[in-house]
Amino acid sequence: TATDAILSVNNIEVIYNHVILVLKGVSLTVPRGGIVALLGANGAGKTTTLKAISNLLHAERGLVTKGNIQFEGERVEALSPNDLVRRGCIQVMEGRHCFGHLTVEENLLTGAFTRRDGAAGIKRDLEMVYGYFPRLRERRSSQAGYTSGGEQQMTAIGRALMSRPKMILLDEPSMGLAPQLVEEIFEIVRKLNEEQGVSFLLAEQNTNIALRYAKYGYILESGRIVLDGDAKALRENEDVKEFYLGVG
Ligand code: ATP
Repeated sequence: TATDAILSVNNIEVIYNHVILVLKGVSLTVPRGGIVALLGANGAGKTTTLKAISNLLHAERGLVTKGNIQFEGERVEALSPNDLVRRGCIQVMEGRHCFGHLTVEENLLTGAFTRRDGAAGIKRDLEMVYGYFPRLRERRSSQAGYTSGGEQQMTAIGRALMSRPKMILLDEPSMGLAPQLVEEIFEIVRKLNEEQGVSFLLAEQNTNIALRYAKYGYILESGRIVLDGDAKALRENEDVKEFYLGVG
């Protein structure tokens, strides 16, 4: 039922620059404690969907012109991105977006900006992040810009964790990373989901890996959801196999 949903996106339309209709009525639901994949080719509208949820479209002259978005049962279209972070929903942007000139640890600490619980809580969560990402502890004093792509992705996720999120919108975590590292990142997503109860909406072009870690998936094509279902059912679907898993 709808009350089990942490996030529900209901029939949203997004237009860029007043004229370019990019999302044509997208609906999706993330159950509390779930991992849901949003799949689709480059340009299908995955990033736009995540940015619509976290209210990051304004900077690109994008606007939600129809539909609504609910986080924990409350409408959030009018909230600022920071208010949404305070409510517990945070986006990790595509391309990792670390502050290159800050150290890894400074990057992580910037993620605590919405908190009001003081130094002790922040210190504890920094330890929690290092527990999940031992590599970040080793690299804590390095300038983020000089760390590897995988380490930057970890830093971006770790930074999001510092806001104590209930839900993370993760955009294309596999992008540009070696398969081994992609697996490592997804394993951590699974752990965060199981151990911290964080819900995830994962936008991914890598259908294969996303459907191994997500429990449910939506496939987006040209701004419309064309198929959705349990991850297992999608993996066995003939169209998904042919067009998204590369097995014909
Ligand atoms: P990617 O894998 O590249 O992130 P995506 O599925 O996330 O792809 P979006 O980035 O959401 O796709 O883009 C969807 C469509 O919207 C594309 O056709 C893109 O060209 C268009 N688009 C994205 N940003 C803008 C913008 N600021 N102004 C106009 N059109 C845009």
